[in-house]
Amino acid sequence: MVLVAPLFEQAKVLAYQITGNGLRAYEGSVVSTKLKVSGIDVFSAGDFMGTPGADMIELLDKHGGVYKKIILEDDKIKGVVMFGDTADGPTFFQWMQDGKDVSEMRSTMLFSASGLGDSGHSGIDQASAMSDDTVVCGCNGITKKDVVDAITNEGLTTRKEITACTKAGGSCGGCTGIIDQILVSTLGTSFVESEHDPICGCTEMNHEQVKEQIQTKKLTLVREVMNVLDWEGEGCQVCRPAINYYIGMLWPEDSEDDRTSRIANERMHANIQKDGTFSVIPRIFGGVTTPDELIKIATVAKKYDVPTVKITGGQRIDLLGVKKEDLAPMWKDLDMACGYAYGKGLRTVKTCVGSEWCRFGTQDSTSLGIHLEKQLDHLWFPAKVKLGVSGCPRNCAEATIKDIGIVGVEGGWEISTGGNGGVHVVATELLCLVETAEEVEQIAKAYLQHYREGGRHNERCAPWQKRVGLDSIKAAVVDDLDNRKALVARLHAYLDAQAHDPWQARVQDADKGYEKFTEYKAIDIPVRVETV
Ligand code: SF4
Repeated sequence: MVLVAPLFEQAKVLAYQITGNGLRAYEGSVVSTKLKVSGIDVFSAGDFMGTPGADMIELLDKHGGVYKKIILEDDKIKGVVMFGDTADGPTFFQWMQDGKDVSEMRSTMLFSASGLGDSGHSGIDQASAMSDDTVVCGCNGITKKDVVDAITNEGLTTRKEITACTKAGGSCGGCTGIIDQILVSTLGTSFVESEHDPICGCTEMNHEQVKEQIQTKKLTLVREVMNVLDWEGEGCQVCRPAINYYIGMLWPEDSEDDRTSRIANERMHANIQKDGTFSVIPRIFGGVTTPDELIKIATVAKKYDVPTVKITGGQRIDLLGVKKEDLAPMWKDLDMACGYAYGKGLRTVKTCVGSEWCRFGTQDSTSLGIHLEKQLDHLWFPAKVKLGVSGCPRNCAEATIKDIGIVGVEGGWEISTGGNGGVHVVATELLCLVETAEEVEQIAKAYLQHYREGGRHNERCAPWQKRVGLDSIKAAVVDDLDNRKALVARLHAYLDAQAHDPWQARVQDADKGYEKFTEYKAIDIPVRVETV
C-alpha cells in the first residue's frame, strides 16, 4: 500500500530543487493512514509495531470488535494502531506530532481521547472537541481551522465543496467522516435544513431519497443499502447511523440493529465522559422513585466507588465516573431499566406533582407522565425526545420547551409540540386540546410516529416541525382519525418487533459468558498494514 502524504512531501522537495528555490532534502515523513480492511476500520500512525519490551497500552473489546494499541517512549506517543473504532486516530496522530506528554491520561485515553458520541446530554462530538490546529486531513496537511474557515468564509455547505476548496478528503478519503462532523458542528441546524443536500459525501442522495429507496426496494441491511444505492466507500459516521435508523424504522420486523453503525455512546449504552469514564442513568419513570429504589442506587454507587451522584434536570439520578469494566455488573446490580440517556431515544417524561398533591392541580400529571414514559420506552427517534407533563397552566414541569408538552387545564389537556430547551430555545406550538388522558396518549404516539417517519436523522422535533409545518402535522395527527390510528399501529408494530432493554441484553450476554466486557491483553493482529 502506498500513502500519498510522503509523495506530496517528496514532490514538494523536488519542486524546490527544480525551480531553484533553495536546496532541500527529503527527511522522511511521519504518516498516518485510515482505511477499511475487510469492512473493518483501521488506523495506523508511526511505529505501531514497537520493539520488544516497548512501553505500550492496549485495549481489546471483543464484543464491540475494537482493538487499540499505543506505543509510548518517554510518555510520548511513538505509534498507534486501531481497529474497529478509529475515531480518535487523528487526535492521537496530532499528539504524536506535537510530542505531547500523555502520562496523566494513559489509563483513560484509549477509551476516548477527544470525547466521542453525539452532542446530547454530556457527550460531545469529536469535531467540537478538536483544537483548531488539529490536522484533519493528514494526506494534505489540512487543519480543522482550514476547514472551518472554508465553511464560514466561502459559505460551503457540503463535503464536496470543502474538498474542492481545501483538498481535505480528496486523497485517501479517511477523514471524510470528520469533515462531515465539522460541517455539522459549524453549521448547526442549517446543515440538515437544506432540502437538497445529500446525507453526506458518501452519496448524492438526500435523506428522503434514501428512505424511499429503502422502502421501495425493501433493503434491510446497512451494507445492502450502500451496495444497491452505489455508496462511495464504506459509509461514515454521518450516513451509517442514519441508514441504520431508517432501516429499523421502516422494516422493524425484518431487520436487526447494526451495532457497528451506531455512535460510540449508543454502542456502549452509556455516555462517555471527558475523562474516559461513563455515566449511568437508570430510568425513573415520571421522576417518581421509592425509598427502596434509592437505597439500591446508593448501595450500588458505594459498591462501585462512584465519585459523583447527581440529580439530573430530567428528574433522574446520574452515576458519574463509572469504569467501563464496571458497566455490566453495575447494570446487573441495579436491575433497573436503561434510561437511554446516551442516544436518540426517549430521554425523560418530566412531571410535576399534579392534582394528587398540589392544591393548584387540575389534572393528574404524574400518573399520565409515568404511563407515557412506559408506553414510549425503547423507541428510537431521529434525535433525542423529551416530554413534559404539568398538572395546571403554572407549568412547573416546563412542558412548553419539550418535544411534546402536555398541560392540564379545566376539563382536559392542552397538547403542544416542537419545543426545545437546548442552545436555541424554542417554545412549543399548540397542537390541540383534548378531554381525556387516553386521547393524549393516542395523539402523542401518533405525533412521535409521524416524526419517526418524516424526520431526518439528527433532526430534532423543533426543526422538523418548522420544516414540515404545524398545519400539516395537525392534519395528519389530529384531524385524520384513520391516519392517527395507522400511525399508532405502526408505532406498536415497531415496539412488538424490536423493543428490548439494552442493559439487560448485555447483562444476559455477560452471564452466558459470551463476552468479557473489556479485556487488556496482547493479541495477534491478523491484518498487516504497511506504510512507506
Ligand atoms: S404545574 Fe400546577 S399542578 Fe403542577 S405543581 Fe405546578 S402548580 Fe401544582
